[in-house]
Amino acid sequence: MIKQSDIDRVLDACNIVDVVKDYNVNLKQKGRYLFACCPFHEEKTGSFCVAPETDTYHCFGCREHGNSISFVIKQEGCSFPEAVKKLAEKYNIDIEESEPSAKEQMERKQKEAMYIANDILAKYYHELLLKNAEACKYAYGRWNEDL
Ligand code: ZN
Repeated sequence: MIKQSDIDRVLDACNIVDVVKDYNVNLKQKGRYLFACCPFHEEKTGSFCVAPETDTYHCFGCREHGNSISFVIKQEGCSFPEAVKKLAEKYNIDIEESEPSAKEQMERKQKEAMYIANDILAKYYHELLLKNAEACKYAYGRWNEDL
């Protein structure tokens, strides 16, 4: 897991135009926006629009849209953290990587193990209790007979 503050810093540094151009998308300025043939679907006219003001992109053809991170995810077919790391590298941003998440994962595993153990223990004690109850009843009966 990457800290939210680090993700924000990466996003702040990202320039969607640069990021898109890294993937050989031939962007052409049209007023406030840049257009290109969409990298996500086959087309001959550019309906892929990049908005530098909001650092986002939108395709009027296939409706694909998002920011620099989602663009990298789509292009690379990678995970969210991988995309953030890639962009952090591009912009020389140090991000703190997943020490707490490794711990969290460990804790999660331990919790799961505990849960399973508890479940087994609960069943064990339940059986023991049932047997004990039988034993008690038996003993009680014997005791009654003895009277
Ligand atoms: Zn498209």
